[in-house]
This record gives sequence, C-alpha cells and structure tokens, in this order.
Amino acid sequence: MVERTGINSQTLLKRLRDALAEAGEGQARLDRITYLIACSMEAEVCSIYLRRDDTTLELCATYGLKPEAVHETRLRVGQGLVGLVADKAVPVNKADAPAARGFRYMPETGEEVYSSFVGVPIQRLGEVLGVLVVQSKAARIYSDDEIYGLEVVAMVIAEMTELGAFTGPDKMAIAAQHKLPFFAKGLRGQEGVAEGVVLLHEPHIVIANPVADDPEVEAARLQEALDNLVAEIDELLNRGSAIGEQRDVMVAYRLFAQDKSWRRRMFETVESGLAAEVAVEKEQTSTRTRMARVKDAYIRERLHDLDDLANRLLRILTGRDDAEARGIPENAILVARNIGPGELLDYGKKLKGVVLEEGSVGSHAAIVARSLAIPLVIHAKRITREALSGDAILVDGETGLVHLRPEDTVAKAFREKIAMQAEAQTAYEGLRDKPAESLDGVQIALHMNGGLMVDLPSLEPSGAEGVGLYRTELQFLLRSRVPRRGELVKLYSKVMDAAGEKPVVFRTLDIGSDKALPYMKRLDEPNPALGWRAIRIGLDRPGVMRMQLQALIRAANGRRLNVMFPFIAQFEEFREARQRLLDELEKEARAGHILPANVRIGAMLETPSLAFAPDQFFQLADFISIGGNDLKQFFFAADRENERVRQRYDTLNVSFLSFIEQISDRCLRLSTPLSFCGEDAGRPVEALAFAAMGLRALSMRPASVGPVKRLLRAVNLAEVREVINVARASGEQSVRPALMDWLRENRMPI
Ligand code: PEP
Ligand code: MG
Repeated sequence: MVERTGINSQTLLKRLRDALAEAGEGQARLDRITYLIACSMEAEVCSIYLRRDDTTLELCATYGLKPEAVHETRLRVGQGLVGLVADKAVPVNKADAPAARGFRYMPETGEEVYSSFVGVPIQRLGEVLGVLVVQSKAARIYSDDEIYGLEVVAMVIAEMTELGAFTGPDKMAIAAQHKLPFFAKGLRGQEGVAEGVVLLHEPHIVIANPVADDPEVEAARLQEALDNLVAEIDELLNRGSAIGEQRDVMVAYRLFAQDKSWRRRMFETVESGLAAEVAVEKEQTSTRTRMARVKDAYIRERLHDLDDLANRLLRILTGRDDAEARGIPENAILVARNIGPGELLDYGKKLKGVVLEEGSVGSHAAIVARSLAIPLVIHAKRITREALSGDAILVDGETGLVHLRPEDTVAKAFREKIAMQAEAQTAYEGLRDKPAESLDGVQIALHMNGGLMVDLPSLEPSGAEGVGLYRTELQFLLRSRVPRRGELVKLYSKVMDAAGEKPVVFRTLDIGSDKALPYMKRLDEPNPALGWRAIRIGLDRPGVMRMQLQALIRAANGRRLNVMFPFIAQFEEFREARQRLLDELEKEARAGHILPANVRIGAMLETPSLAFAPDQFFQLADFISIGGNDLKQFFFAADRENERVRQRYDTLNVSFLSFIEQISDRCLRLSTPLSFCGEDAGRPVEALAFAAMGLRALSMRPASVGPVKRLLRAVNLAEVREVINVARASGEQSVRPALMDWLRENRMPI
C-alpha cells in the first residue's frame, strides 16, 4: 500500500464513493465532495471549477469560499492560477498565492485571506474538464504526495463528470456534456446531407465505478489484463499476419507493454484506491498531454503507439466493445478521430455518413466515403468527445456542419434540405437516359470515377456513359499484401462484366506520395508529392506493373481494353509505358491467351510539362485525361492535401482556365480525345466552365452526373463562353463571380 502523508487516498476515495452513491442533485454531490476533500486535507477551502465551454471555467462548488460566488465566478482558461492549471494541464502549488505571478483576485469569493494555493487539473484522456483547488490560510507548500492524492481524487471527479453525475439545475455549468446539443463546423470531405444516429468507431469506455472496492482485486485484474495484452501481441507476431511496418509496430508494442515504469505507475494508482481502468486512463492522460507538447514527429508517433497500447489494455479490461459486436444500427453515421480505408469499407454500405475529427480530403478514407456516396465531414473538432453512440446527429458534407443531439428547429430545417435533395434526385433520375447536351447542341460525355466494387452498381442509375477513371490502386491500398495476378484477373473481369457494353478506363497503379501501400517500405522523401510515385515507380520497378497489365489483358478476354498511365510528365515516359503494354500483349498472344478486341492506351495529364510535350506525344496517345487534382496543385504550387493552401486558388482562376483551354485546343488540333477526371469535373459550375473551354468528356463521382447534366442541358454553351471571355478580358482573377451572376440572373439550376 502506498503511504501518502497528509491525505489518505484510500480513505478519502471510499468516502467519495459513498457520497457519490447517495441519491440527490448533482450540485449536492459536488458540495459534499469539496467538503470531504477540505476535511481530509485539513484545509479551509476546497473548490471545483468546471469547463463551461472551450474557453471559460466556472466555479461550480466550494467549501470555504463565499457560497454566492458559485456559478457566478467565471474566468478564462489561462487567466489566474486556476486558468493556468487548466491551460497547461499541470498542478500549480504556491505558498503565497496572492504574490504569485498571474494571480487574479476575485473579490466575490472572499479568497483574499487564503495564502497557500494548490490546483490540479480535472482531466480525462488528455482533455481538461476542470480544476480542483485547495487553499488555506497558512502559507505552506503542498508535498508531492499530497498533490498525487489530489490528482487521484481529480481522476474520480473527471470520471463522474463524464458520467453526468453532476448534472444539476444549471446544466451548462455542470458539465452535462453528453446531453446538450453540440455543433461542430468542420470541412467538406464529400457533399451530401444525412440524418441518423452516432456510431462511434472507438466507443467511449464508461467507468461506472472509478473507486475500487478492494485494491488487491484491482491489482490482480490489472496484472491479468497486462498478461493478456502481451499474449495478444505475441500471438499477432507469431501468426505472421503482421508484416513490414506493422510488424515493427507490434515489436515496439511488446517492448512498451513490458516497460517497468509504465506498469509501476499504473499499479501505484490502483494501490491508492482507483479502479484498474482509471489507472490506465491516468497513464493515457499523461501520454496525451505529452503528445500535445512534443514537436518531434518520431516521438509523437511513439507516444501515439503508447496511447494505442493503453486503448488495447482498456478494451481487455472492459471486455471488447467494438462496432461488430454491437451491430450497426440503421442510419448509422460513423464518428471517429480518424479511420483507415479498410476499416471504413468493413462498415460497408450500411453507413449514412462519416464525421472525422482529423482526416484529409485526399485520404483513402475520403476516397472510400466518396465511393460509398455518403457525406463526409473532416476536421470536426471535439466530435469524438462529445458524441456517444446512439446520439441523434445531422451531417452536412457540403458546408461541413455537424449537429449532435440537435434542437427540433435545427432538425426540421435539415430535413427540409434532405427532402429538397431527394426531390432533385428524382429530377436527375428523369434525366438519366437523356444526353448531356447544351441548348446550342453541344454534347458532353459524362463518365463516372470508380475504384472499388461498391462503385459499380452506381453506373446504371447515375446515367454515366462509362467509367472514365478506374483507380486500380484502391484495391491495393485495402490489402495487407500485394494482390496476386489471379485475384486481379477475377476482379478486373468482374468490373468489365458489371460495366457491360460501357467502356472502363483502367488507370495503372498510382501509388507513392499520399497513397502509401501498407506493405511497401515507405521512402523518406523530402517532398513525396514531387517524388517517386505513380508511373515513375511503374517504370523503375516493372514487376508489379507487368503483372497488372497481364491481369488486365486476361480479364478483357477478347473484350475492349482501355489503359491509362498516371502522372506522365514527359513523352518518353508515355512511350516507354506504352511499349511495356505492347510487349505484354505480344507475350500473352504467344502464350496462347485471347487478346482484347481493341486496346486504347492513354495518358493522364497531371503535370503542366505534359501540356507542352511534342506533337508526337499527342499523336501517339489514344486519349488524354486531365487529372485536375494533381494538375491544379502543380500549376499553383499548392499542396492538395494542405488545408491552409488547398482552397487558396480557384479552379475558375483565369490562368488555370486558360491553361485548360490551351490543352483542349491542342488536343483538338491534333485529334487526341481529351477528358477531365479530377474532382472539379463533378462540380456543376466548374464542369460548365470546362465545357465552355472546349472539353467534351468529363469523369466524376456518380452522384455528380445528375447535377452536372441538368446544368449543361439548361445553358447555351456559346453564351457561357462569352461570359467567361468578357470576365477574362476585364482583368479579373477568377471568372467565378461573373459566371455565378450570369447563372443566377438566368435562373439556371445550380
Ligand atoms: C487527379 O489527380 O486529378 C486524379 C484524378 O488522380 P488522383 O486524384 O487519384 O491523384
Ligand atoms: Mg492524380
């Protein structure tokens, strides 16, 4: 048993537990806690401040300060000694508090007579929920043991706050966190609106009894859980399913799991009277606090591993509670800090939407969300802390808005938006078999982008004329090893079966940069987006590309085959890649395989350099597709993954549009079919501008085909071109304002 002077944690914790078990208002509980702590510490004052919102702390209970200050005294995080504790998430211990730097006198509390001050953060999993303060008249410094005792008590308060144990008459103030409406403004990951219920990817572990009945029993539970943790890791390693970096991570986990000081700290917490789960969380809290401070990426990664390890331990202690076990409710909207593409795909079609606290638009999870055609909001701050599985939630992927436990009025407005979208959807269905033809008779071919089997059922209902971009790397990204040729043959064959008479353009593996295969050794490149990626890897390490080309030829099995090489920056790369395909065709013929009926070989134009390639390139390519996502990032030198600069430059910027026009003119002159397959092709106004610049084929996510077609059918393209030309001549930076004005004036369906 750990002997602590001045505060006997075990006795105090037992009293706290009894106090918490008593029925009554949350306020009465808080009052009783402050009384018990003050008595136990032999101090005149004990107060609890809780977070009212992100920036404000409120005095919620006190023993010793003036009662009328309760719920009246508020201070900002960072303000005064209490604010300092909350801001830095560290204890503050002063013998002469009024003389300390940063002290802020709050006359309404009557605290001027107290000299010593000790405050510890009330925190849970790295989030500061409030501050626990003890003050006394005698000028004294509290010992480390006393501070430790207070921290232990603060852990219990944090757990109880999380449980809503202090919900009182003033709900806002008494951290009735998971009951009130919550609103987050994140960023658009994928358009669409949805209403549903929260499904937490990593469910909160709610600890109903933070104070243990018997520390010895808790120590035994902790020991058993640790043994199981090591056994679990060993089993993963022995099974050999973890390879490459995954294996390295597991080896590191095993080392961490045996770390003596990590174990010692948890056992000490248990000995002081807390439940084993709280001991693990206490460690997690300090790991996360450190994580928030360290700058070094390597150390952060290791701390992240440690945090993950603690998560595993918690799950072992509480019994697994994953989504699979709980089942996926109807209308589930997945809420996660972040998620990998494989995990997201595991949830499959059952999800109505996804909200991530982190994430990025170009991430694989975002790509999967797009394939699933469900709204996605990224960077929704605090959402994983605020949401509980089963909460009502509204998601607007277009504006990035997320409403948790919404008020009726908000929900009503939302439902109207959903209804409007459903109505529009019906209107698009009516257009399905009509051509995307402008009023002045210009026809634009609309295709869809895909990459997973789940995409293909969208081909028919969307009305797309074919698959203009099939991102083959997605299948590679979702596996833990390189797929075998036989698997690929089956897969590509199924894709062609599903497309039937409609053409599919298969893009060869586009990996590297943001698309790192889990089983491929990651290169440490200073600028991965400008590094060894896509066709550069394909040409330098021909094995996988050859296997993929063979699989495509065999899958075609006498049907038409369209192959497109990504990220071609100069003619020579295309000539070489094309030759590799021709060589494979020859070999396959010699081996007696049936050749495709017709092979078309194209290039993606994703770097400005290719637009200025010799005429011979344009003549040799059977078709070209502009990869606008990459082309735009290189044109403006603005990283497509970097939220700070990503939207700084408008797609309708005069320079970019004129560049697109130049490419289009050149392709027209040299008779090279041209399309555009970046995300912008699916945005109606952008699509319209591209068509006005001369593009006659666009490839987009299936849900965009309807809205783009509706707008194209409503306009006279020559007029649109005129509007753009006038805007260009006026010296404007972007043609968007002029184009939008014209569209609105003419009541166009945007
Ligand atoms: C593009 O760059 O526009 C493109 C379609 O390819 P990806 O987004 O897969 O890089
Ligand atoms: Mg690209």
